[in-house]
Amino acid sequence: MNELSARLNRLAPSATLAMSQRSNELKAKGVDVINMSVGEPDFNTPAHIKEAAKKAIDDNYSHYSPVPGYPVLRQAIVGKLKRENGLDYTPSQILCSNGAKQSVCNVIMALVDQGDEVIIPAPYWVSYTQMVKLADGVPVSVVTGLEDNFKMTPAMLEKAITPQTRAIVLCSPSNPTGSVYTLEELTALAEVLKRHERIMVICDEIYEHVNYIGHHASMAQVPGMKERTVIINGVSKAYAMTGWRIGFAAAEEWVIKAVNKLQGQYTSGPCSVSQIAAAAAFDGPQECVEEMRQEFERRRDLIVSLTRAIPGLETNCPDGAFYLFPKCSSYFGKSDGEHVINNATDLALYLLNVGHVATVSGDAFGAPEYFRMSYATSQDNIREGLKRIAETLARLK
Ligand code: PMP
Ligand code: GLU
Repeated sequence: MNELSARLNRLAPSATLAMSQRSNELKAKGVDVINMSVGEPDFNTPAHIKEAAKKAIDDNYSHYSPVPGYPVLRQAIVGKLKRENGLDYTPSQILCSNGAKQSVCNVIMALVDQGDEVIIPAPYWVSYTQMVKLADGVPVSVVTGLEDNFKMTPAMLEKAITPQTRAIVLCSPSNPTGSVYTLEELTALAEVLKRHERIMVICDEIYEHVNYIGHHASMAQVPGMKERTVIINGVSKAYAMTGWRIGFAAAEEWVIKAVNKLQGQYTSGPCSVSQIAAAAAFDGPQECVEEMRQEFERRRDLIVSLTRAIPGLETNCPDGAFYLFPKCSSYFGKSDGEHVINNATDLALYLLNVGHVATVSGDAFGAPEYFRMSYATSQDNIREGLKRIAETLARLK
């Protein structure tokens, strides 16, 4: 009776959410934990967005919305893509979902068949590989490291392509490494992709506005690539709206029609009130986005300098997102006399249980020599968290 589908048995739980839950459980027991595990802005949603939502409730936005989202929201997204990215889409090329997470999963479900390969540059966000497995596809990781600033080169991409390759998932700015692809780098990758017509590009741009180099590039801007690209984005990170659950996919109509059919059968349109709030986010004043970005940049500078001062940790200086992904393998094999650190998971658990700082092991990101810290938390928390990490790691001999 208690038999799960093979599909579910193959699925790993989300390591980011699991670590955050562990941290919350310790906190509930009275332990003072610094949570640097889950990646979500610690800011509150800006006031004008909350006001729009309150009005939406009073205006009785309490019914089912169209499956792809209200026209007003899709029009606001069309406006955003034109204004910020110089890209022309129509509302029928947009579909809104329950967070960017569902948008990515919808698209993978719609494009990937049993045995299809999906290229995912590692380190990758934990959910991509699992979503591909859910679709009975095969995730193919292309391993990059600190020495490449975690960016896949055209040669690495070419090597990973086979006749079974159906799609590639690009995340820029990247979770977990913070690396950002420039338009020139995307153009060079596109040269390879143009020789392989079947390959679709899924571009996860959810950290578009958490960018420290001043410009964001999308594969859809590369001439000849827009037709094969699906842009994923949303309001969670730019507008501090993780709990509102609104993301979107922008693509050619045949893709959007397919995800519409899928979403219509399994979740319908996303939350009505959140959609109106998201439309206000895209259409409203954008100063709030820049203010949060500047604070993330100050935190980035702080955490990079504190991490570089810890012996045995090696890190890049991220160009975007709000994560630091240091290499920690110099600690493997060491012990404090009681705990032995054999891998990054041991290290993350040691930091949590002994140092009371929650981070995430690199294992689930396809990078077992690294671990991830989210710096979407106050500068005080970053200082205290890094002090604890330094002291805890210093016990390992
Ligand atoms: N893509 C990446 C790379 C992410 O880090 C996240 C974080 N949750 C998501 C997508 C999903 O975003 P959302 O909260 O809008 O579902
Ligand atoms: N994307 C965030 C993270 O990586 C939120 C958690 C999740 O959905 O994985 O921490």
